[in-house]
Amino acid sequence: MRFIIQKFGGTSLVSQELREKVAARAIAAREEGVTPVLVVSAIGRVNDPFATDTLVNFARQVHREIESREMDMLMSCGEIISGVIMAGTFQKLGYPSVFLSGPQAGIVTDNSFSDARILKIKPENIIRHAREGKIVVVAGFQGMTEDGEITTLGRGGSDTTAAALGVALDAEFVDIYTDVEGIMTADPRIVENARIREVVTYDEICHLAHEGAKVVHPRAVEIVMQKNIPMRVKCTFSNAPGTLVTSTGEVFKGTIDITRDRTITGITQIPNLTQFRISMDNGSGGLTVKRRLFNSLALAGISLDFINVYPDRVVFTVRGDMAQKVLQVLETTGINNVEYTDGCSKVAAVGAGMTGLPGIMAAIVDALTREEIQILQSNDSHTTIWLLVKREDMEKAVRALHRRFALAD
Ligand code: ADP
Ligand code: ASP
Ligand code: MG
Repeated sequence: MRFIIQKFGGTSLVSQELREKVAARAIAAREEGVTPVLVVSAIGRVNDPFATDTLVNFARQVHREIESREMDMLMSCGEIISGVIMAGTFQKLGYPSVFLSGPQAGIVTDNSFSDARILKIKPENIIRHAREGKIVVVAGFQGMTEDGEITTLGRGGSDTTAAALGVALDAEFVDIYTDVEGIMTADPRIVENARIREVVTYDEICHLAHEGAKVVHPRAVEIVMQKNIPMRVKCTFSNAPGTLVTSTGEVFKGTIDITRDRTITGITQIPNLTQFRISMDNGSGGLTVKRRLFNSLALAGISLDFINVYPDRVVFTVRGDMAQKVLQVLETTGINNVEYTDGCSKVAAVGAGMTGLPGIMAAIVDALTREEIQILQSNDSHTTIWLLVKREDMEKAVRALHRRFALAD
């Protein structure tokens, strides 16, 4: 059988009219001779009754710190509701259809509740139903451990389900249907004239996604990349061609070298970070403090970013909601001289084409200082330059860099 995976995000499923459009896409694929397997997210976004955030907020009204095992069971319900409704939609339209939860679809994960990794997929159930002529709808974002615990795959994880099924079924395409017309040079909610990229490489979107472009989950890209399965990001509401995500090799087989005009592929942002600055003496006492500092934060499971270590100082950032925990850990470890700044954001310019090219940082500093945006910290790799700015400067910084690198339409 020739499979195609079609994943639909929450905003694509909010009304019966849209769900019938979704169904029409699957039916069209079938008429072209491929077997669609649908992956669905929970219906809608925050405040819609069955959206993931709505379920989370409901539970938090009862107790802020419900155990992650129980939270995963609750969060998995959104996709169950959505899948039943979608299979029901096919049945109403006269097409036999079956809904499978993550466990029923054979998705086996580790036991990291709220951020589980898929270990393997046993696709027999999906294949059997598809052979019987049913349109298979699978719940995104969830799986089960070997010993029967329900898990979720991290926020935005329905993309990961789609990618993993794409690999397990050796699909011709993994199509991610969403509310924008493809992968763009910046989040269109910030930059109105952001441009759609027709083609991006796995590497490019991986970097963009890791740096906050949540149009596709980075883990999903990593999965399809391993088996070279082409992914397309398309819009549920239009017939625009979308963005093809493929390997550099495939791109170079064509006539266009997409990296030639691509110093920067896109600009991304991550809001709500807290920067910590901890000073110490620059002798052997300071070395002990540094060791204690990093060990205690690692033991507490706190993930650090933007880390700079100097002889007399350590600077790093954490997600804003982790700042209190960092302060507690530092206090119990007896680490003093701590300063911190809440309300920071990370803006990143991502592009494989910047490797070895002089002048990129100069252009960035020029663009931001012209807008009077203070750079609190910076970091770089051969494909990305990161800048820490105040939260209130984030949008301005993204727009300034987008303009500077002429990324607009
Ligand atoms: P879904 O519910 O369909 O999974 P998401 O909200 O996860 O949708 O992802 C789509 C959103 O990603 C868009 O509405 C857009 O605002 C945002 N986004 C952020 N960065 C980008 C980008 N570079 N290109 C396209 N969309 C982006
Ligand atoms: N419903 C889940 C979330 O909101 C998974 C997804 O939409 O991909 O994170
Ligand atoms: Mg998403």
